[in-house]
Amino acid sequence: MIKHISILILFLFTSLAANAQDKIKVVSSASIFQDMAMNIGGDKIEAFSIVPIGGDPHLYDPKPSDAQLVKSADIILVNGLTFEGWINKLIDNSGTTANIYTITEGVNVLKSEKYKNAADPHAWMDASNGLKYIENIKAALIEADPDNAAFYIANYEKYRSEITALDEYITVEIKKIPEAKRMLVTSHDAFAYYGKRYNIRLNALKGISTEAETQTSDMVRVAKAIRESGVPAIFIESTINPQVIQQIARDNDVKIGGELFADSIGAEDSEGPTYVKMLRHNTDVIVKALSQNTMTATKIDSDNSANGWLIYLLVGTVMLAALAFAITKFNK
Ligand SMILES: [Zn+2]
Repeated sequence: MIKHISILILFLFTSLAANAQDKIKVVSSASIFQDMAMNIGGDKIEAFSIVPIGGDPHLYDPKPSDAQLVKSADIILVNGLTFEGWINKLIDNSGTTANIYTITEGVNVLKSEKYKNAADPHAWMDASNGLKYIENIKAALIEADPDNAAFYIANYEKYRSEITALDEYITVEIKKIPEAKRMLVTSHDAFAYYGKRYNIRLNALKGISTEAETQTSDMVRVAKAIRESGVPAIFIESTINPQVIQQIARDNDVKIGGELFADSIGAEDSEGPTYVKMLRHNTDVIVKALSQNTMTATKIDSDNSANGWLIYLLVGTVMLAALAFAITKFNK
């Protein structure tokens, strides 16, 4: 009996181990790409992200366990374009033999406006670029695991139509914001691709990386842009300390329109737990904050004029009463 049980246990362990070994181990630099990989790889892969959800990939400091993770990977997915400045050293030091894929391959790269000649890494913020990312990820998975090519292609096709629909959704929604108020004020310059694709102007406190401290001149520039455009709201980002943006909102008497996701997806219970959901959430928050307040402003105006009438009425009544009093007194 004991012999049988131990054989059974041995069998279970071997099959479990074989199962884990069968799966392609995909290590991504950031959570957005991990989510993309999971959508295509399904249960044929194990997907990991080096930078945890909510972490800032620009400033990440790799831990010893990250070197272990990278070493054990079958595939490594990186954005490139200076997004993860720390990753080459991590990969070199880990001694990994994994294939490394730059998933921005084929994307039309934007240059940073602030830093001459630097590439802007935030290409995924344009959903039509997201299609390039997932095409590259699909190709990487097929190369690592050709036996399951049909599975990856089927998932990819489904995911592609989802992202195509998202791209159309954002295009339509952003147009609902009145032209003059179609300006996005954020902490760091992560929205250039989004702005270009969906036709919304941008003004960020910091450049394309979050490394530099905010300068007084940046605060002055942003305040000026807020005044000139008359935007009713500005936005904080999930991976960045909101203090400076909150200060600017107070100083310029505008609202915080909400929290946007740029360099990381949100936690499972957040509004943006996946790539598709985070872009959709961003769009909903932006459209609501930048168009709704136009109505609020009008409402305040009419409230003010109503208050004005009330005062005239009150003053008028008092004056009439005084006149009546004076006439009665005079007649006596
Ligand atoms: Zn960024």
